[in-house]
Amino acid sequence: MTSIPTTELVTLGTAAGPAIRGPENGIASAVVVGDSFYMVDFGLGCVRAAHDAGLRGRDFVAGFVTHLHSDHVVELPGFLLWNWGAPVDGFTREIQILGPGRDEAHPHGRRLAGTSDMVEHTLQAFSYDVDIRVKDEARPDLGRLVRPTEIRTPEYGSAAAQSPFAVYEDDLVRVSAVLVDHPPVRPALAFRFDTEAGSITFSGDTAECSALARLAEGTDILVHEAVNLEFFAGRGFHPTFLNHQSESHTSPEGAGRIATRAGAKRLVLSHLAGVATAEEWEGRARSTFAGAVDVARSGDRFALTPALAQATG
Ligand SMILES: [Zn+2]
Repeated sequence: MTSIPTTELVTLGTAAGPAIRGPENGIASAVVVGDSFYMVDFGLGCVRAAHDAGLRGRDFVAGFVTHLHSDHVVELPGFLLWNWGAPVDGFTREIQILGPGRDEAHPHGRRLAGTSDMVEHTLQAFSYDVDIRVKDEARPDLGRLVRPTEIRTPEYGSAAAQSPFAVYEDDLVRVSAVLVDHPPVRPALAFRFDTEAGSITFSGDTAECSALARLAEGTDILVHEAVNLEFFAGRGFHPTFLNHQSESHTSPEGAGRIATRAGAKRLVLSHLAGVATAEEWEGRARSTFAGAVDVARSGDRFALTPALAQATG
């Protein structure tokens, strides 16, 4: 009856890091639109998790990196190498990796890698393997298929930084972004995917952020990070570490407040820092948000069918 493809969120990994404090994979999500899919971040375990979710490189279109903390990008090299070429049902056409450029405000920013350097250095680091497999396995040249794009961002603190801006569009999705508050990491981005079936917004890593509430206005699903500060405070973590958690991340109550301000229909907590039970995460978010709340686990799926979008929108 309808030709609108279903849009689905798959939370491939839900843990903050770089630390292993439980069974969950590191932060990574997929947005599946019909037969195509997009990645948001590439945390530890995402390569296997994407495969286990039935996602194959041949259907991969573009990856979006929220920021360059290692727990968000550590498996980007593995994802590219494990999803490339016909022998692994991988991509054989050009794909894009979009992410932040260099941190120009950092004292050593010009010497430190942005997204393009990270991708190009990865290709160089594995150039021997790539060269061998091009000749030995009849694969296309990986270096010609992977196109890194650094997202142009407004100045932090400027009026423009309060408004969403467009970063990507194709036949299936329109992706917009805002700068979020994740000091000292700059740029740090939140992304919103709009499809014919509805919208999914990803907070990335951020303290409670009013620009994010604007980006997520009326969104069907808000995927928001959360930190359980009490977990760290009660275990002797260094005050500097505790300060980072409190200045750069959001409590579950804060995630609920942003969902409320945005008018989001569903709040999915992912990128969980510190240990708590699902009931504790959910209960704290529910104290500030009246809509649906889920505590994501690795491999969970959330479908946005066109009918649902109409029924709830
Ligand atoms: Zn981070």
